[in-house]
Parts: sequence; structure tokens; C-alpha cells
Amino acid sequence: MTRDQMKKAVFEAIDAEKETLFALGEALYTHPELGYREHFGTQTVAQLLTELGFQVEQNIAVTGVIARSLTSRPGPTVSVLGELDAIVCPDHPDADPQTGAVHACGHHLQIAAMVGIALGLQRANAFPFLGGSVNFMAVPAEEFVEMDFRARLKKEGKITWYGGKQEMIQKGLFDTTDIAMMIHALDLGPGPAAVIGATGNGFIGKEIRFIGKEAHAGAAPHEGVNALNAAMLTMNNIHAQRETFQDEDHIRVHPILTKGGDIVNVVPADVRMESHVRGRTLHGMQDASKKVDRAIAAGAMAVGASVTIENLPGYLPLLTTPELDTLFKENARPFCENRLIEGAEFAGSFDMGDLAHLIPCLHPFTGGVSGNIHTRNFTVADKETAILFPAKALAGTLIDLLWDDAKKGKTIIEGFSPRLTKTQYLAFLERTWETRKIHGDAL
Ligand SMILES: [Zn+2]
Ligand SMILES: [Zn+2]
Repeated sequence: MTRDQMKKAVFEAIDAEKETLFALGEALYTHPELGYREHFGTQTVAQLLTELGFQVEQNIAVTGVIARSLTSRPGPTVSVLGELDAIVCPDHPDADPQTGAVHACGHHLQIAAMVGIALGLQRANAFPFLGGSVNFMAVPAEEFVEMDFRARLKKEGKITWYGGKQEMIQKGLFDTTDIAMMIHALDLGPGPAAVIGATGNGFIGKEIRFIGKEAHAGAAPHEGVNALNAAMLTMNNIHAQRETFQDEDHIRVHPILTKGGDIVNVVPADVRMESHVRGRTLHGMQDASKKVDRAIAAGAMAVGASVTIENLPGYLPLLTTPELDTLFKENARPFCENRLIEGAEFAGSFDMGDLAHLIPCLHPFTGGVSGNIHTRNFTVADKETAILFPAKALAGTLIDLLWDDAKKGKTIIEGFSPRLTKTQYLAFLERTWETRKIHGDAL
């Protein structure tokens, strides 16, 4: 059996089961679940991979699945990831009416592609030919949403971190992974196409609560402290920082008000704001975060309100491993007639960035969808492109990595120098998570 024969056999096995994979994508799409609540997704994936003959562990980080092949040989471990969770987008026509959740980031496609790879390799009996092992991981909670719910899980001791991959790193679930790979869907026009070697921003999350003093808004506003004015000034103060952000840091700050007051005839005394501070480098993120905190403190101080700022470790900037990108490019090319875009820069954030600081990671974007991610227009345009194309391109890449006693894989692992050790990474998360309280002199 040559490497090309093996790839061909795997691709044929994936094609032969395309209806199974499409049905899986559809089942997940019609059961959208938010992070750390993906019970249907976990069960569905666990059952499918168990039936395929893998050794399966489920609910690895509240939810989530790891499946390992029983016929693996010694050598490096490549983990293929798919994210389980949906995003909140209540305006999407397919959003769950209760929760507003919908797969408008295409994570159901990642899972279907991942199961496609597992199925293809298993049916083609590839594992005994590969010089290492493969994990298939359905990972929880990539979208940074439902902060109150996650705070509760943390309080109950069920999680340490809000992001799924952060939590899995903490739990040691990536300790034996040498290389990780996954895709994200993106609107790239009709037919197979891919964006390769893209970088992305990291972010620090902020939960902000302005505390003022209630008073009758008509009769005695002079006796109150208006927390909404503190928030409004904060917005302007943040805008005044923007000219100081360096182009190369790609800073984005985008606050929203999540509570603007209670009733109209009372001076607002409890006003809440959330923001992300995004940047391309850890230093850039931290520098901008400090400026935003200053802007918040000044807004509160101007009206004499108090404010609590909770800084949350969001995700780390997405990094690339050029050797993996090159390998993926070679494997994607036969399917997409050179519709390959190299080296894009995303201002959005992915928790694959966290993992990419520790081990070599591959995170291309592949097409088959239309509309922007996280919006009401996002839809799957072509299932073959959205599911089968990434399944085959990643499967081909994986075979290249582990073929010939994992010669290529070992070279990439040896040549990789991590930006952070796991200990340094966890220390960074801990340092970032801080609550600051500033007391207003009018209270
Ligand atoms: Zn997303
Ligand atoms: Zn996503």
C-alpha cells in the first residue's frame, strides 16, 4: 500500500458515507447548544465513534468527547478537533426560540468533517499504516458567551476557565497531543476554497458594573449619582484611546451596555457593560486593556460613581505553523483548483490560539457556506464543500504527517518552539483574571 493509495481509499470511504456525515451535520444544526451545555452533541458524537470501533471517553470537560483508535502504533499523536457549541444570534431564522442559539459559526460542519476523517481512516484500515496515533476530539465552549452561566459552573467547581480549550489544557487533555488540526467555515464563494496560514487576534474580556445612587429622576436628580452617565463617559474615554493604538497590534475594543438602568423615573444606579479588548500580541492586548481600564475609572470618577471591572482571560492570538500550512495546501489543492488564499489576518478570536502557543496547530478556513459568521445570513451553501472537502484535505494532511514512521510529523514537532510552556500559559490566564474596584467619592 502506497501513501497515495491510502489517501485514495480514505477519500472513497468518506464519499461512500457522505449521507451519514450530512445527517450528522443536520442533527447538530437542528439541536444548537451553547458552550458547556452540548449534551446532545456529546452523546451523538460519542455514539457514532463508539460504533466505529474507537475507544471513547465522554464529558471530558463538562461536555465533549475524546476518541482514540485501538489499532494505533507508537509515535506522535495528532488530534483532530471539532467544536460542539453554537453561538447566540436570535435574529437568525433557524435560532432556537428559547435560547437564541444557532450554528452560525459552522461548528456543526467541523464536527461532521472530524467524524468523516475518523470514519475514512477506520474504514480504509489506515491506522496500522500510520506511525503514531490519532485522537478525535469534540471540544466544548469555543464561543465566549453566557458569562453568568460559566461563572456559576466555576463557582460549583465544574470548570476553571470559561473557554473549552483553556479548560482542556488545564485538565491535561492535550498533554499527549503533539500536533492539533481543525477548520473553521468561511464564506469563500461557490465551490471548494481555503484560507491558509491565517492569524487572528486574542482578547481580554471585561465585565464592568457602574454603581451610582438612585434618586427620583424628576424631583431630586441632584441627590443621585448617575451610573449611566459614567458608562456614557467611559465610551467616549475609550474612543479617545483609539489614536494611541499601534497598527501592528490590530486593537479592537467594542463595548456594549447590557443594563442601562431600572426604571425611567429613577436615576440609574446599576449600569452594566461588557467589552472585549482584542489584539494581535499579548503585549498589545495588555497595553490596550490597561488604557480601557483607565477610561472606565475616569468615567466613574467624573460623576462620583463606583465601578467594578472584572478582567477575564479571553483567547490568545491565533498563530500559524508554516510547515503544517504548506502540507495542508498540497492536500487541499487537488480539490479546489488553486482557490487558495494565503496569509489572511483575522481580527476575530479563536481558542485554537491558546493551543497554538503550546503545540504546532493547523487552522485553515474552508468554504461551502454563505453569509458572515455570527450573523442572521450565515447558511450552509454546499455540504460537499463544507464537510467532505475539509474532511479529505485534513485526512490527507494527517496521512502525510504520520506516513513513513511519522517522518514529516516528527520533523515539524522537533522544529517547533512553543511561545509558552503550559505552566507559563496557565500563569498568564491567572494573572489576567483580576477584579478591580474603584470607589466613587460621591457615594
Ligand atoms: Zn464563532
Ligand atoms: Zn467558531
